[in-house]
Formats: sequence, structure tokens, C-alpha cells
Amino acid sequence: MIKNKKKPDWILLFILVLITTAIVGAIFLSPHLRTPTSVETQKALLILTEAAETALSMQQAESQKAAIQDQATQEIEIIPSPIPTQKTVNAVEYFRNNISQESYADWIRKLSGEKPVLIGGQEYKIETRYSYAMFTGQQNAKAKEFLLETIRQWMPENQITQEEYVYIDATSENKWINIIVTFPGEIKPEEEVLFTAHYDSCVVFEGDPMKYAPGANDNGTGVATILEAIRIFSQMKFDRTVKIVLFSGEENFQQGSKAYAARHAADNIIGVINMDMYGTDKDNDRCFEMYVGELSGSHQLADLMIQTIQQNGLNLKYDYLTGDAYSLADQTSFWNVNIPAVTAMENFLPETTEGGCGVRDRTDFWHLPGDTTESINLPYAFDIGLAGTFTVLNLAGAHPVPIIE
Ligand SMILES: [Zn+2]
Repeated sequence: MIKNKKKPDWILLFILVLITTAIVGAIFLSPHLRTPTSVETQKALLILTEAAETALSMQQAESQKAAIQDQATQEIEIIPSPIPTQKTVNAVEYFRNNISQESYADWIRKLSGEKPVLIGGQEYKIETRYSYAMFTGQQNAKAKEFLLETIRQWMPENQITQEEYVYIDATSENKWINIIVTFPGEIKPEEEVLFTAHYDSCVVFEGDPMKYAPGANDNGTGVATILEAIRIFSQMKFDRTVKIVLFSGEENFQQGSKAYAARHAADNIIGVINMDMYGTDKDNDRCFEMYVGELSGSHQLADLMIQTIQQNGLNLKYDYLTGDAYSLADQTSFWNVNIPAVTAMENFLPETTEGGCGVRDRTDFWHLPGDTTESINLPYAFDIGLAGTFTVLNLAGAHPVPIIE
């Protein structure tokens, strides 16, 4: 580049020397040798001037070209452009870069009363998330308030919905609430991908659920995955609409998901990924159960989840359960209205599929006061959470929002 710039200078100098020699020659030498006509002299001068002009314009063009090249070089190599840099990070990579096992575990401790939470600047402990306790204003059951306040840190109010439904049991009429967070799709907004978990808890075999039902595994593991998803999804854009739904009333025969599926049966839901209780892996075989059912759409969802696990090196094994899937979980509410849905759960059922998880390896504290963070295999739960989340990212066509600094 420097050589190209200098070369026209030499050409110019050479031509100027020629012009000078011609003029000097014309004035001083010509009369002694011969007598050129003034026309001949003028003609020679004209040609030389033209040549000089051409050389000059060539030099100008060269230096202009060099300036443009210099600028281009600067733009590419010297000033980093933030947009292309951001675009090279895909959604899965971006998600991984923004989450840690510790940030995940922290939500479980807060949701199960092991760590205090702040709601409206005041400290509380969430000792139970039993629906009957949460929706009657109990001070030890402020999970809904905590979730809403947490989500509001990341999401604008118009993307958060509290959807109330009525559940009539043998003795009372109850108004319970599902929480919905909507990320509108930008290319196919009418197509919805649901990412769901139940946030209520229960104790059945011991204790009083109105007083203490920590539910760290059931389903703190799922809600923590969902909270981390909302936090990081808030920095992304999606081709399809993503709806994150936190159900109440699951421990009362899936009231929350039944109400949701009934109300939204006509929505264009292309798939539901439901996360429910996946913190136990005592034998460290990293195997979990997928409740896939019989709908072909559910099979497609499960296949995508398996592919996602393999592509991202999550090192998880699974039981692929169709007819023998566990039915008392929220995916059943969707299957019943023909909406494809898959639930991820720990190795909960007795041995079912050959080559799958083998002997059951489930929590010893199911629906017991002992369901605390202590008994959770965090690396296992964390990775199942990622498997579900990455499947949603793939299905919804997610892109991180470029951050221009
Ligand atoms: Zn559960």
C-alpha cells in the first residue's frame, strides 16, 4: 500500500523533469540546432502537459483508493463491530454463558424456605407452597408474590399475566392462580411454544401442608429452571411465541394445567415442555424419564429433546415412556386436548423400558417434610433443566439480542 502511494510521485517527478527539459530545450537549444515552428513547440508542450495531467489524476486516484483502503482496513481490523460479534454467539451458547449451577440452586433454597426472600422490602420464608395456603394470604406461603416480584425485575408488566381459575372441591370454592410470561414471536407469533412447571408443593404422608411443605425437589427443581429461563430469555428474541407458565394446583390433581389447557385449547400450541421434579440421582447414572405419550407431536418434541441433549454434550440418559408414562403430572392435561407435551422427571417409575434407566432411583422424600435442597443432585438437576431449556430455544428459534456498548 505504501509502495502504491509513492509510485505516482516518481512518475509525476519524471514527467515534470521532461516538461522542464522540453521547455528549456525549446527556448535555448532549438534556435542553435534548428528552428522549430511555434506550432511544433506548442504541440510538444500540449502533449507533455496532457501526460502530466494524466499522471496527476492517476496519482490522485491512487491516493484516494489508498485512503479508502486505509479506512476499510481500520473498520475491519481496528474498530470492532459489536453486532457481528454478538451474532456469532447462538442462543444456547449465550444461555450457558449467563447461568451457573449456583444461581440455579439459589432459587431452590429460596423457594423451599431454606433462605429468606424479600417481598416488598420485607423478609419472608416460603415454608409451604401448598395452593390452599398460598391463596388464602398465609404469611408463610408467599411464593406467588415472590415469583411475581422476581419476574418483574426482568419483564415489563404487559408480558406478565396472572390467570385465575376456580377449583371447586368437596367443601369449598377456591380461586387459584397460574402465572404466564409471554415472549412474543417475531416471525410466527401465532405459533406458541410452552415451557411449564408447577410451583405449588405438598406433604401427604407426614406433617401439615398448610404449615410446612418445602418441595425443593418437587418442584423447586422445575421452578428454578423456569426462573433462570425467564431471566435470560428476557435478553433474547424469538421467531415463535414462547409462553412460560407456572401452574398452581398440580398437587390437587393438576388443577392449574387443566384450567390452562381448557381455556387455551384453541391456541396454536405446537408443543409443551414441562419440567417436574428431577433432583434425585443417587446412583449417578444421569438417567431421567421423559413422559412422551401417544401423540405424534409429542414424539417430535421428545426427539428434538434427545437431539438437543446429544448436540450440546449434556451427557444424560433417558427412559422414553409412551403408553406407560406417569399420568399424574401436568403434561396429561395437554394430551387430553390433543396438544403435544413432554414432561421431564427423575427416574421415578419402576423399571419400564429396556436399555433405559433401569431400576428406579427416585427421591426418598416425595411429598414429605424432608424434601429439601440437601438431597438434590445439583449437577444432574441443572443439566436436565438445560436440556428442557435448550429444547425450547431450538423450537422457538431464539436469538440473543445484540448489546451495543
Ligand atoms: Zn410435582
